[in-house]
Amino acid sequence: MRLVLLGPPGSGKGTQAKFLEKVYGLKHLSTGELLRLAISEKTKLGNAVADIINSGQLVSDDLIIELVSDRIDKLDGKAAFVLDGCPRTKGQAEALEVMLSEKSKNLDLVVQMAVDNDQIVKRISGRINCANCAASYHTEFKKPKIDNVCDFCGGDSFERRADDSEVSVRRRLDVYERETAPLVQFYENKGILQAIDAMAPVGEVSKELGALIANHTS
Ligand code: ADP
Ligand code: AMP
Repeated sequence: MRLVLLGPPGSGKGTQAKFLEKVYGLKHLSTGELLRLAISEKTKLGNAVADIINSGQLVSDDLIIELVSDRIDKLDGKAAFVLDGCPRTKGQAEALEVMLSEKSKNLDLVVQMAVDNDQIVKRISGRINCANCAASYHTEFKKPKIDNVCDFCGGDSFERRADDSEVSVRRRLDVYERETAPLVQFYENKGILQAIDAMAPVGEVSKELGALIANHTS
């Protein structure tokens, strides 16, 4: 199963991708997480993209596709994955299709996660991430099961993302509407789009996703 979670910043893509990785064994490929790692490690890539990311703009299509292609090459032959945060432009969607077909692969499913802007602002303003494995939590809506301990890796240090400032979030929402939202129609035309109610609580969204996957693989 190869699927894309398509939704605005803060819609819960990372949260659900971690769930899909744990429960269904799909490798979580988050372009945002890979880029933030490069920034924290001060690699050449990280230094080149830090200002772009922190101001809420998009990194170039070529760079993103190369990053994703490299990661897919490192997976086992099956390459079952959930893509979170890519594609974000029509150019990326087209290049992704070409890149996958060159590897004799395709996308099985694209899941649209629609959330309204008021809820996005609430989610992003309370978002904290595990400093070790980057799992997403929320100070009110999704606390770790044990206070201050990551459910996934047991880490006990949490941090806020540098690009979760109000100005950057507003910019990211504009960019989403302009560049990414048209991909809903793009994938609808390909017949692989399914929409879920991403406004629901975390556990209910996970159940809906699980049902979609079960339907698709049965
Ligand atoms: P994205 O990866 O789409 O940017 P995240 O998965 O990081 O979004 O989620 C954004 C914030 O919203 C996090 O603080 C997360 O804990 C919280 N969150 C995710 N899904 C839900 C949900 N269904 N209901 C309430 N809060 C949620
Ligand atoms: P995310 O973690 O998905 O919210 O992404 C954080 C930031 O990383 C975005 O606001 C962009 O600056 C950058 N980024 C992540 N994925 C992409 C992508 N597919 N295309 C361009 N920029 C991206």
